Amino acid sequence: MAPSDHSSEPFLPYGRQSIDEADIAAVVEVLRSDWLTTGPTVARFEQQVAQFVGTQQAVAVSSGTAALHCLMHALEIGPGDEVIVPTITFAASANCVLFQGARPILVDVDPGTLCIDPAAVEAAITPQTRAVLAVDFAGQPCDYDALAAICQQHQLHLVSDACHSLGASYQGRPVGQLAKMTAFSFHPVKALTTGEGGVVTTDDSKLADSMRSFRNHGIDTDHRQRQQAGNWHYQVTKLGFNYRLTDIQSALGISQLKRFPDFLTRRREIAAQYDKAFSSLAGIEPLDLQANSEHAYHLYVIRLKAAELGIDRRAAFEQLRSLGLGVNVHYIPLHLHPFYQQQLGTGPGDCPVAEAAYEEILSLPIFPAMNAADIARVVDALRGLTSSSGQQAA
Ligand SMILES: *Cc1c(COP(=O)(O)O)cnc(C)c1O
Repeated sequence: MAPSDHSSEPFLPYGRQSIDEADIAAVVEVLRSDWLTTGPTVARFEQQVAQFVGTQQAVAVSSGTAALHCLMHALEIGPGDEVIVPTITFAASANCVLFQGARPILVDVDPGTLCIDPAAVEAAITPQTRAVLAVDFAGQPCDYDALAAICQQHQLHLVSDACHSLGASYQGRPVGQLAKMTAFSFHPVKALTTGEGGVVTTDDSKLADSMRSFRNHGIDTDHRQRQQAGNWHYQVTKLGFNYRLTDIQSALGISQLKRFPDFLTRRREIAAQYDKAFSSLAGIEPLDLQANSEHAYHLYVIRLKAAELGIDRRAAFEQLRSLGLGVNVHYIPLHLHPFYQQQLGTGPGDCPVAEAAYEEILSLPIFPAMNAADIARVVDALRGLTSSSGQQAA
């Protein structure tokens, strides 16, 4: 069992924001200004995000979930349509399709990376399929060339849930440019935070205009039209939502973006140290790396091989938690949740690769403020798992 001197150490979560005095000052400055919500700072944040990922447009919204809903709406996904989504992801990746009255088709993942399996995508295509949502699991880009080829052949839209992968790249091309539209999240557990927030990046100005209207009640914001018809004039041209990001949040985003390259570097350093430590630990296997890609390491996921460790994932999870380590499981495959089972008729056996992976996966703490002692604590605890199993076996 856990030695008590260890369990008194502070809890180490799997992810945590890094806020500094400059972030706080930037937010305070907006609080003292004329604009709290949609003002000049939102536009500035959008420009900087677009510049960072290298797209023409960025549309800031109130969450990653809102970003996904905006992009599904901009594609005019609706009743009768199907969108292919991997089963290893957060619920919002499928819910955004259901918000539009369409049907998410949950498919299996690649056993090495746990990103959507292009072969599974191809097998799931029907005459109703309109789009594929690639999810860059853990921060690693999917195989976008394979997905793009399939989408081109079948005339499907390729869109991306990059809530894990801001700063990653695939064959030298940054995430954000790899699909028609790409959604990011700025929740505190993600790589850059605005408290709550999200953005969609795209090169298509028509789609961007559609999303700008959708995030603001479906109001058409054509200034020229407004000038001609009188300054009071605006038109609701479709059903929209209030998915606006505030200037307060955008100020935090701009400030965070300045340090983002350092955040990314630190995540990659931590991952490299884990990789090195686990290369000599039997039964602990990091996920495979996609060739020619740069990983953003939102998550560091290992697979625990119970046969080699002599301890299964549940027992390992509990032992690590008892040591104050905030390990977690990303994710319970969507097709096994009661809601999707009822709504979509899915169930055990549908996605065998994801189901097998689910029995073994564990996300370890990784965030920029982790220090050498924190990393050593995680590595020692995992070594402890293997040595305790050795004692059991002896
Ligand atoms: C976090 C996350 C979302 C949702 O983002 P929110 O900002 O929390 O709404 C969607 N998809 C994935 C894969 C995520 O990790």
